[in-house]
Amino acid sequence: MNPRCASVLDTPPTAAWPPDVERLRDDFPALRQHVGGRPLAYLDNAATTHRPAAVLAALDRFYRRDNANIHRGVHRLSVRATEAYEGARATVARFLNAARPEEIVFVRGATEAINLVAYSFARPRLRAGDEILVSELEHHANIVPWQLVCEQTGARLRVVPITDAGELRLDSYERLLTERTRLVALTHASNALGTLNPVRQLVALARQHGVPVLLDGAQAVAHVPVDVRALDCDFYVFSGHKVFGPTGIGVLYGKAALLEEMPPWQGGGDMIRTVSFERTTYADPPQRFEAGTPHIAGAIGLAAALDYLRSLDAESLARHEHDLLAYGTARLAALPGVRLLGTAADKVPVISFTIDGVHPHDAGTVLDQLGVAVRAGHHCAQPLMQRLGVPATVRASLAFYNTRTELDALVEGVRRAIEVLR
Ligand code: PMP
Repeated sequence: MNPRCASVLDTPPTAAWPPDVERLRDDFPALRQHVGGRPLAYLDNAATTHRPAAVLAALDRFYRRDNANIHRGVHRLSVRATEAYEGARATVARFLNAARPEEIVFVRGATEAINLVAYSFARPRLRAGDEILVSELEHHANIVPWQLVCEQTGARLRVVPITDAGELRLDSYERLLTERTRLVALTHASNALGTLNPVRQLVALARQHGVPVLLDGAQAVAHVPVDVRALDCDFYVFSGHKVFGPTGIGVLYGKAALLEEMPPWQGGGDMIRTVSFERTTYADPPQRFEAGTPHIAGAIGLAAALDYLRSLDAESLARHEHDLLAYGTARLAALPGVRLLGTAADKVPVISFTIDGVHPHDAGTVLDQLGVAVRAGHHCAQPLMQRLGVPATVRASLAFYNTRTELDALVEGVRRAIEVLR
């Protein structure tokens, strides 16, 4: 059995098992609504999660009480806003087990974090003939920024293939790691298939070749504990909105020694030490990378989301998610004409599938009529769809607040789609 399943399923359940999911759902106001006359079954969490009331309250409190710009003000509101914003940075550092808060850069999301590393870390180091290693599993956000800097420098993108089950081919990965590799950029978990990569092993192999590693944690942080020091990755990125926080805020973790070497990528207020027309000097990280007024409320809301998550029993929720994944997978697999994509041994709770003779978008529309929210499309992973030989899939992506009843609604909806669309 793989390590994650071992940790979740091979140990006896804690006293908190089973979790009181109905009570947890009360924390999420948006889940308690009807769509098309039916209870909403929100199964699109890989696109974005919902926010608990604690996050909504933190945003409301900030704007009602503390709203001010940060770092520069001498007045009381600015001091409070600055303390809350920098406190949020410390909360994120604890969440990732970073060595210090200065290793946390606030950005708009995973996309911006990867672009920051592409422009500030990779581009100055790349020469013609150098290589950046990604995989067939990547979201466009972890492909296109690298292509852009490759175009500008003459470097080349190399791609680690996957197996038919959707797992990275470790033999190919090892073969592709060479003296030309300048950076490895891999997803921690696949948004389209759910595959959970063996990131510790992948980083260790890159280390043997002295190659720095960026991990895209957008789909991992809501499901598995992340310890950047244990992983020993150089960069780790994620978006707040996929971990129950606000949109428009995300995180770049970078090892202090690397961030210190990196030049600014955007200029403006708050990222400088001194400015004159002759010469400008830059602030230390993380301020060096946070030009302009940041999403202050977003950072505070993200910290509230992470505090909320920390207050829950992570192990029993992981067990619950695993139960949902197994249940939903088995029920869908039993339907005639349903083909599951992504059958890796170790997965976050994402179920991707096609239905013979039914276009995924049409299935998504029928499901919506029944109150079931899923995603249908290429999931911003067109190279992966090409590898799998499909233009699109239907994707049900789960969070700890989902239930078997919602998966039953999904299965009924798919049955219905087959009836009316075939
Ligand atoms: N990477 C992965 C694996 C994702 O799933 C996503 C979002 N779907 C992103 C990156 C980009 O995240 P964002 O749009 O929040 O920047």
